[in-house]
Amino acid sequence: MARATSAKTYLWCQTCRRSYSHADAPDGICPVCVAPMREMSRFAAIARGFMANELALSPLQTKHRQLIQLTWTRNGMGERYYQVLAPEMPYSRFEAMVTGLLMRGADEGWVRFVFPPSPSSDESAYRLEFVDEERFVRELEALAGGNAGDGVMG
Ligand SMILES: [Zn+2]
Repeated sequence: MARATSAKTYLWCQTCRRSYSHADAPDGICPVCVAPMREMSRFAAIARGFMANELALSPLQTKHRQLIQLTWTRNGMGERYYQVLAPEMPYSRFEAMVTGLLMRGADEGWVRFVFPPSPSSDESAYRLEFVDEERFVRELEALAGGNAGDGVMG
């Protein structure tokens, strides 16, 4: 990977149609939608950003994603999955990827997030439920194993 040129380039997320600095996305994956991003020159990123301006991310979307991430990693579950699966990637990247997986699972109906009607101090009111646990295990194994040998980590 062209890490040496980081200072002069930005990362572009095709899905969100916006750019991020390397500091915002040290693992090269979009902090919002978890898609892998590609490097582009500062000028190209700025030009594209202008064109995509009206598609800027909603703060609600960002907060929703954070809520999902906080919910599934609650009680050290994030670290526990990481230790069991021992994927060849840093924890922050693993956490972002599993969050993306679970967002897809919620869209597809094999996991469900349960939240209280209003913000609660009882953390157990925020939880992840498995509608199809086998599907989750299969997807998680594919995610952790499939990423090991593809050279992303250089
Ligand atoms: Zn994105």
